[in-house]
Amino acid sequence: MNILLIGSGGREHALAWSLTASPLLTRLVCAPGNGGISRIADCVSLDISNHEAVIGFCKDEKIDFVIVGPEAPLVAGLADDLNAQGIKVFGPSRAAAQLEGSKAFTKALCDRKNIPTAAYGQFTDAEAAKAYTREQGVPIVIKADGLAAGKGVTVAETMDQALDAIDDCFAGKFGDAGAEVVVEECLVGEEASFFVLCDGKNVLPLVTAQDHKRVYDGDEGPNTGGMGAYSPAPVMSEAMCTQAMEEIILPSVEGMAEAGMPYKGVLYAGFMITETGPKLIEYNVRFGDPECQVLMMRLKSDLLPALLATADGILNHVDLRWHDDVALTVVMAAEGYPGSYEKGSIISGLEDAASDDLVEIFHAGTALEDGQVIATGGRVLNVTARGQTVREAQERAYAAIARIDWAQGFCRSDIGWRAIEREEQAA
Ligand code: AMP
Repeated sequence: MNILLIGSGGREHALAWSLTASPLLTRLVCAPGNGGISRIADCVSLDISNHEAVIGFCKDEKIDFVIVGPEAPLVAGLADDLNAQGIKVFGPSRAAAQLEGSKAFTKALCDRKNIPTAAYGQFTDAEAAKAYTREQGVPIVIKADGLAAGKGVTVAETMDQALDAIDDCFAGKFGDAGAEVVVEECLVGEEASFFVLCDGKNVLPLVTAQDHKRVYDGDEGPNTGGMGAYSPAPVMSEAMCTQAMEEIILPSVEGMAEAGMPYKGVLYAGFMITETGPKLIEYNVRFGDPECQVLMMRLKSDLLPALLATADGILNHVDLRWHDDVALTVVMAAEGYPGSYEKGSIISGLEDAASDDLVEIFHAGTALEDGQVIATGGRVLNVTARGQTVREAQERAYAAIARIDWAQGFCRSDIGWRAIEREEQAA
């Protein structure tokens, strides 16, 4: 089978790594890919926003299956346009991708299906949004409705912050994404992510994870795309997963089918685990990055048949097996990230660092030039390890990092700290 994988991050390297282990795979092409992916797949430059070009490429190259990594092409309707040409796709339709593309859409689904989530108001003008915010008081959460590359959410501790965030949205700071604003109750608890595959009707739970969004140790500093993650999330006990499936995931999937937009793809639910159980913070319509890296490290089964069954509507025939141990990934980023950073520095020592069988180094912003690995992005490498405990996986990941020679890179030194604290309390 010939596969086109779309994307260029650590998530796509982890997916490519899993897919290349499948006996069903003949050829893997990745657009655009990165330095790490180029060692295991053919990387091509293709304008993903030009759906005609993607369709033409699939026909010319006899692509049997397209796997879409990031959310933007899904929200733009790439899956619809490929499906219309008879090309099989892993990823939801444009309508179903509104689960990530519009916060108000997801809130309306929660209302219809009585799904536990934060109380909210939805506004198209600043004065009404401010009046509601003043009435509710702080802390409160202000969200641009649309896709804002993870930057459209402000958890406001003071009224001034909240009102400024509302002004920012309506002043166009997030472009069209901020034309509508959702003001939400601030939930208190521990955050965790839960992943499922869904074929429109059947739901196959995958596993749980937690990530670290802030750039510095102790979860301090500005938000990033994610500085590290681990799986499973200790807070997601079996009982919590069951409650989340029954109260949140299954009603959502049912609600999407009822609305005539059945959800097909991976559904990534962000929960706040409150005193009364999980509440939905958000849905994403893709694997998380870097959560995907830890998921793929724990997956024992062949990924490809599960993704195909998702597209074919036969997930009820799939059963996935997972390693019971922990996977943990540490993101190495270019000095300066998430602000401005230099590109073009040379990274060495990667082969030595990855020599442990329980370590994989997934590339994000890298390119290969004359056999050398060059940093080309903000988040650059995901050093990923497995271990019997979070502590063991963490030690293995940092031991690998110590063998990487990249003076212009940095990473957090405490990925997994919360889970390790919990582990050590239990011991
Ligand atoms: P989102 O893009 O909706 O996931 O929001 C980004 C981050 O903002 C989440 O991961 C949470 O840390 C925080 N957040 C979003 N909504 C809430 C909420 N209602 N209460 C508390 N924190 C929130």
